[in-house]
Amino acid sequence: MTSLDDLPIRDDLRGLTPYGAPQLEVPVRLNVNENAYRVPEEVALDIVQEIARALPDANRYPDREFDALRRGFAEYLGHGLTPAHIWAGNGSNEVLQHVLQAFGGPGRSLLSFTPTYSMYPLLAQGVGMRWVPVPRAADFTLTPDAVRAAIAEHDPDVVFLCTPNNPTGTPLGLDVIEAAAEAASGIVLVDEAYTEFAHDRSQTALSLLERFPRLLVSRTMSKAFAFAGVRVGYLAAHPAVIDALRLVRLPYHLSAITQAAAIAALRHSDAMLARVDALREQRDRIVDELGALGLQPYPSDANFVLVGGVADPQATFRALLDRGILVRDVGLPGTLRITAGTPAETTAVLSAMAELADA
Ligand SMILES: *Cc1c(COP(=O)(O)O)cnc(C)c1O
Repeated sequence: MTSLDDLPIRDDLRGLTPYGAPQLEVPVRLNVNENAYRVPEEVALDIVQEIARALPDANRYPDREFDALRRGFAEYLGHGLTPAHIWAGNGSNEVLQHVLQAFGGPGRSLLSFTPTYSMYPLLAQGVGMRWVPVPRAADFTLTPDAVRAAIAEHDPDVVFLCTPNNPTGTPLGLDVIEAAAEAASGIVLVDEAYTEFAHDRSQTALSLLERFPRLLVSRTMSKAFAFAGVRVGYLAAHPAVIDALRLVRLPYHLSAITQAAAIAALRHSDAMLARVDALREQRDRIVDELGALGLQPYPSDANFVLVGGVADPQATFRALLDRGILVRDVGLPGTLRITAGTPAETTAVLSAMAELADA
């Protein structure tokens, strides 16, 4: 029988394991930072109608330039952006992959500040570029000086800055992003996947785009927008950057169904984002209540909390799973990551954690 080891795969892929957060059918799923709330019924119906309008034309390839969708994102983002500044893909992961295909690749390097999003090294690997992880301070914060020093030392081709950072929840000040954009000779991408959950939502790198033509800001519909299952991520940058991304995308990469669904969802952005404030409250509640239990939740601007002070993360993970609650062991010693859920889901995980602390 043929196994992976018998196949003539690339040498640099041998022995690697694929991305794989467990997908388990348990009652309380708080492990991949999804929005806990379903797409509102009336919005779902309008999306279905938009898809129904598009479907008879599905004998033709979709709009390769997804003009209507780019218009929708430009309006949604504001900041004087036009459709020429917008890119999109099947999830922001695909957008990040396009960025690395265009600006990275063999012989080039991707620098980021760890711990950070586990997909960054995998995306770098996929395009054959070198991954340069630079450790954050003990509390996971970053200063302008630390960022300038790391960029000066490594002179990376691409820098990824995740804010709020996954898996720690840590926000970056705009001064840090400015320092990176000034210091870098290559591309600086700010991954704002969780920006809608921030305490201060005015702190977006979109406000810096005009000054820095090599600065890119990526967003996603997967988290605050409650649309993870449809796979839509997007990016704002100088129109010349968008031209570079066109060189590497597969033709017609966004299906007519995806474009129709995203366009209709954007029309209802208020309804789609209506639960963000409720989720922020549950996020803050996790920090407060687990802190009171003597654990060390890190401050978070995202829809999840990294909880330190967990004596045996694997045992706690399993004990929670026995109670039908799925959280994430991100492999950082003494921690678990918990996504904010509905009030009932959050109560379930907090009660279980209190019970386990007592035991
Ligand atoms: C979830 C997440 C994304 C979004 O991924 P999609 O492909 O858009 O679903 C991007 N960046 C970070 C840091 C994330 O946690």
